[in-house]
Amino acid sequence: MSGKLEYIGWQAGITYQTENREGLDKVYLKRLLREMNDNGMNFISFMMISHGLNDPLHDGYTWPVRNPRLRCYLNEKCINTDPRNEFLKEIIAEANGLGFHVQLFMNGFWWNPDRVKIGYPRIKFIEGSQQNYYHCADNEDTCKLACDEVEDLLNYYASSVRSYGFEMVGVDGCRCDDTTKKFNDAMVMGKITARFNEDAVSVWSKMRAQEVLTEYTSAIKTIRPGIAVWHHGYMELGDYGGYRFSPCTYKKAGVDVAMPCVHTIADENMLRKVLESSGDFPLVLHVDTRSAPTYNYTDVQHIPSKNPAYILSMGEWIVNNYRPNLKGVVFFNEVYTSPENRAAVYEVISRWRKKGLL
Ligand SMILES: [Zn+2]
Repeated sequence: MSGKLEYIGWQAGITYQTENREGLDKVYLKRLLREMNDNGMNFISFMMISHGLNDPLHDGYTWPVRNPRLRCYLNEKCINTDPRNEFLKEIIAEANGLGFHVQLFMNGFWWNPDRVKIGYPRIKFIEGSQQNYYHCADNEDTCKLACDEVEDLLNYYASSVRSYGFEMVGVDGCRCDDTTKKFNDAMVMGKITARFNEDAVSVWSKMRAQEVLTEYTSAIKTIRPGIAVWHHGYMELGDYGGYRFSPCTYKKAGVDVAMPCVHTIADENMLRKVLESSGDFPLVLHVDTRSAPTYNYTDVQHIPSKNPAYILSMGEWIVNNYRPNLKGVVFFNEVYTSPENRAAVYEVISRWRKKGLL
């Protein structure tokens, strides 16, 4: 591509939201790569984990996990997890041959608590998180698991992957003993000057989230020097707490690209706010194209289903609000997108090309 957007492609779950229990196979992905290439795409992100909480058919890791402690969260029904049937290496090589940027993506700190505690018994989830899936980064075992899975995954797929993407950082107002200790240590060091109360916890949580983002990004880059780290935040960039960060925090943490979830955008004005919030930080929009709702999403997180008219409008809004730090668009979730919506995605790309965006 010679235009303004460097990355255009799909994110596809290896098992997440796939129709059958076994997940994707080699034939499916070979066909997809050809289709993407034919339609001017040059980027593919593989989501390497699913969670039963949001997809009752699929729960766990989708590659042949080698670390014995991680094997408790292996999805044994997934074709790609059996070393004899593993096919993703070949698919990644083929994608590289087509000149694609290949990314591996995980959620980070979000696991089925009943399964991961088998390998990591001292792990702690954040009290009150949805079905206790969100785990606390102040806990040593939790951090060990978060880093172990990155190491196992990136070592398996070695040097053929250009970026690693993740979502959560394991900080959200937790009140466990480990968090209290971290807070008290920070107070002793003069990082925070308040007693452990609701306001102080809120301030501390934002500081701690930034610390964890920095530590986790550094850990990923230590595991695979040279890999780019993309962070999947939510809507506008800003230090709002949870896993939402400002461009300044991203720069300090060593994050290379922000890939915010913009799934709840309903009009051009909302998109403009997200783009303006990014300043000059490299941005790749994560655009939802799913035609059916996501299982078990609460009202607060509810993401409306998308249709071709929406996707075509999104394409126009992006043209109208293009800025130089907008480096690309990733459409999600390939496996859960209807043929009509898929056609609309390719139509959008064709229009972008005519307008000089590609
Ligand atoms: Zn905690």
